[in-house]
Amino acid sequence: MEKHDVVIVGSGLGGLVCATILGMRGYKVCILEKNKQIGGNLQTFVREKVIFDSGVHYLGGLLPGQNLYQIFKFLGILDDLKLQRMDMDAFDIFLLGNDDKEYRIAQGYDNFIEKLSQDFPGERHVIEQYCAKMLEICEQFPLYRLRDESYFEKIDALEMDTKAYIESLTDNEKLQAVLGGNNALYAGVGGKTPLYVHALVVNSYIESSWRCVDGGSQIARLLNKKIRSYGGEIKRNRKVVKLVEEGGDIQYAELENGEKVYGKYFISNAHPVNTMDMVVSDKIRHAYITRLKSLENSISTLLVNIVFKKDSYPYINSNYYYCDDHRNIWNETAYKVEDWPTSFAVFFSASSKSEVYADGATLMAYMRYEEVAPWADTFNTVGHESDRGELYKEFKRRKAELLIDLVETKFPGLRNHIHSYYVATPLSFRDYIGTDDGSMYGIAKDYTAPWKTFISPRTKIPNLLLTGQNINLHGILGVSVSALVTCFEFVDRKELVDEIRNA
Ligand SMILES: Cc1cc2nc3c(=O)[nH]c(=O)nc-3n(C[C@H](O)[C@H](O)[C@H](O)COP(=O)(O)OP(=O)(O)OC[C@H]3O[C@@H](n4cnc5c(N)ncnc54)[C@H](O)[C@@H]3O)c2cc1C
Repeated sequence: MEKHDVVIVGSGLGGLVCATILGMRGYKVCILEKNKQIGGNLQTFVREKVIFDSGVHYLGGLLPGQNLYQIFKFLGILDDLKLQRMDMDAFDIFLLGNDDKEYRIAQGYDNFIEKLSQDFPGERHVIEQYCAKMLEICEQFPLYRLRDESYFEKIDALEMDTKAYIESLTDNEKLQAVLGGNNALYAGVGGKTPLYVHALVVNSYIESSWRCVDGGSQIARLLNKKIRSYGGEIKRNRKVVKLVEEGGDIQYAELENGEKVYGKYFISNAHPVNTMDMVVSDKIRHAYITRLKSLENSISTLLVNIVFKKDSYPYINSNYYYCDDHRNIWNETAYKVEDWPTSFAVFFSASSKSEVYADGATLMAYMRYEEVAPWADTFNTVGHESDRGELYKEFKRRKAELLIDLVETKFPGLRNHIHSYYVATPLSFRDYIGTDDGSMYGIAKDYTAPWKTFISPRTKIPNLLLTGQNINLHGILGVSVSALVTCFEFVDRKELVDEIRNA
């Protein structure tokens, strides 16, 4: 019977980063991935020769010395990544339904202040104050800054509402909206999302913003190579259904086909609730599971992936975020179904084929799982294809047309450039990622109960650990840092952080 040092459930970024670090330290790691393609939200797919991302549209913090740069450098993948720096003066552009102006968000704090002050000339001091606060909050998270210091001191931003903070800065409602305008990056909700989430996410993009050329799956591919070079393996099409405890430790992961995979340690990259559903043991307290199940997940999304006619639509090196009304910016997840869509984001795909024309773009709009509940009993992935039926196709077509109509109000004529489009719904995310509701970013953070939404990588079973976007923070940066926290259970914390900082 083969016994691995570490068995990892899921090859999302969290699982891949843990496997790479533990592989470097001599552990023999085996990742079990239920899908045909590794990477979880890093997966890409190709339609009519155009590459689309499922869950990575841009990355932050990739200049030398910045956090993601150092982590990727340490992991040994940085030099092989195909990256494109986004527009220095407008990595994000905010559009408002009740305003014709385009608000440009620039990279680099000085540039950010300079450009935004041009749109809000009387508010420069407010913008400066906002930037100082973002930087101050980031400093309070030592690991985010790759420093080995005690983790949680008293951090006010844990218990501050992002919306209330931004509104306290100024009476200028437009500026308030612009400062919170890319809150789709963390599915921000007014009266709920803590300020630290906003700060850690937004700061990384202001520091530097990048697109992956030809898709984010390259991150998974490169990590896969590293994992193999350390003697690890990734087994695809292996869905774990049970994690069986005997004598106080998990002994093996049982797959859908009955196969058992033995290990000394187990790390789950699946959602903690789904992980607990797999655990066969009475060691996990009922109260813990009830607590996990009581935590709300962030909203899901609908994506319309557009294939443009050849050499027809210009490539734009900025992302767009739109909200129908600047007063609704913190309320978009609570849209009325009959009014949908009221907000959207547009991400152009960076392709090695052309820097002049876009071959594809993704339109993204929030969608609650309840909208696709009529098809909850269906399951469809490339590995397990099944037709969800005509009504579902019609639902997707109708929603896509509504979204394109709204996007056209800001991108007149866009429709004429569309060759074809492909729609992903909350069901696509549910089936590919293995969550219950297709949530984009997993467990939603809440400033009124911040500690409840931090999930420890440890469980009551000493050799079962957790990793991924539900531990600490989502996003490529958040998940990479969360993976470090999981790895601290195996490797010396100070040594690892020092190595990353000095990579
Ligand atoms: C639409 C969208 C856009 C996004 N855009 C960005 C962006 O622009 N920038 C950014 O930084 N972040 C973005 N994110 C967030 C980012 O992609 C995620 O936070 C991150 O990739 C999650 O990584 P993870 O480690 O939690 O694993 P996940 O991606 O959640 O993967 C989990 C893996 O576990 C596998 N698994 C689950 N259950 C089992 C089982 N029983 N057996 C075997 N395998 C199993 C799944 O198949 C999957 O491969 C976006 C997310 C979404 C949804």
